[in-house]
Amino acid sequence: MDLDDLKTLVIGAGIGGLAVARALALRGADVTVLEQAGEIAEVGAGLQISPNGFAVLKALGLGEGLRATSVQGRAVALHDYQHGEVLRLDLGLLEDQNYYFVHRADLIDLLADGARDAGVKIRLLQKVDQVVPGEKPKVILSNGTEIMADLVVGADGLHSRLRPVLNGDNPPFFTGQVAWRMIVPNDAGRGPEAHVHMGPHRHLVSYPLRGGRDLNIVAVQERADWAEESWSQRDDPETLRAAFADFGPEVQGMLAKVDEVHLWGLFRHMVAPVWQGGGTALLGDAAHPTLPFMAQGAVMALEDAWVLGDALSRSLSQQGTIAKGLASYQHRRAARVQRVINVANGNARKYHLSFGPLRWAAHSALRLGGSVAPKRMMTRFNWLYGYDVTRDS
Ligand SMILES: Cc1cc2nc3c(=O)[nH]c(=O)nc-3n(C[C@H](O)[C@H](O)[C@H](O)COP(=O)(O)OP(=O)(O)OC[C@H]3O[C@@H](n4cnc5c(N)ncnc54)[C@H](O)[C@@H]3O)c2cc1C
Repeated sequence: MDLDDLKTLVIGAGIGGLAVARALALRGADVTVLEQAGEIAEVGAGLQISPNGFAVLKALGLGEGLRATSVQGRAVALHDYQHGEVLRLDLGLLEDQNYYFVHRADLIDLLADGARDAGVKIRLLQKVDQVVPGEKPKVILSNGTEIMADLVVGADGLHSRLRPVLNGDNPPFFTGQVAWRMIVPNDAGRGPEAHVHMGPHRHLVSYPLRGGRDLNIVAVQERADWAEESWSQRDDPETLRAAFADFGPEVQGMLAKVDEVHLWGLFRHMVAPVWQGGGTALLGDAAHPTLPFMAQGAVMALEDAWVLGDALSRSLSQQGTIAKGLASYQHRRAARVQRVINVANGNARKYHLSFGPLRWAAHSALRLGGSVAPKRMMTRFNWLYGYDVTRDS
């Protein structure tokens, strides 16, 4: 137990915060999670957990728990918005086939139970107002209470209180894209596959959840005006249906069932140049929010959680310092995270090719790649999905 008695405060009981809380507690740290909300609840939405994220859950002893609550993905099918399927990627060709579709609330429950089982204290209604790095870093709650610790982890998401303390203000910019997300009943009995329907200036991703009973849908449209960067904005389902009215019958069938939908403005943030300092560290979206086009935001938070625990543990077991461990954490994570974010930014453009011939050429290239050398297509993702951060320890 290399982190014995390391008094740690984690801000935020999201996926990153709960995962790092368990990772540190399993190594002996004394961990308290401070969450602003009155309950650990999640919006109704799905997540794809790729093999590199599953590797972390497994190493944290939560692999079987994830399997029990999710659908194992077997394929990803790409469709032209009017002309049907252009390419099918068989997830069975991945070296590691642990690719899962899970409801966010189910993953949060699994992580919260896992954290508590490891001795983590989760305190609700604790809104952090300020973080003060230092020899003994401290957090100040919105009710004025001050709490000192040896380590403070800011896993407080897009609107992190710690990020500007370490980096100053770097306001994000609107990407010109909005996303609707919703869950509908899987009445058509769609199998364990993700489908991406791509059209000019729009695309729609869908996959099954919860034993195949539900379908998770994320629909993205390019737009000049912007929506709030939050899940709380509701929208009229008719607006969504009108935006995808020229898509084929499969999409119309899914959207006909929508009776509640939320709208999300997609913003581009810089990866924080500074992730750590004065006994504090950023993790997950607080350090590196990503656009959803690689489905890797939560997975990167899981990888961060493992590496932070490992880096601290290595440093402290070799008579090193917390500061050295934190520096090693950023060093081990920054380049990989930046690469994922760059690919996600590029995908936004590829999905939305609006000039017909360009779209045709791109789809033909995809089709050719998929039929001639499907295995080679899949090995393109090895750097991402085939990398097990827990073996890098
Ligand atoms: C449309 C869409 C689809 C996506 N799909 C995928 C996917 O398929 N796979 C994937 O890996 N990722 C996906 N993502 C990304 C993923 O949702 C995020 O990257 C992930 O939730 C980040 O987790 P986090 O723990 O860093 O932050 P969050 O989940 O935002 O958690 C932050 C927590 O901190 C709390 N908090 C904030 N401020 C304070 C404060 N001051 N005091 C106390 N508590 C505070 C919040 O209440 C919250 O509980 C998607 C994102 C979008 C928008």
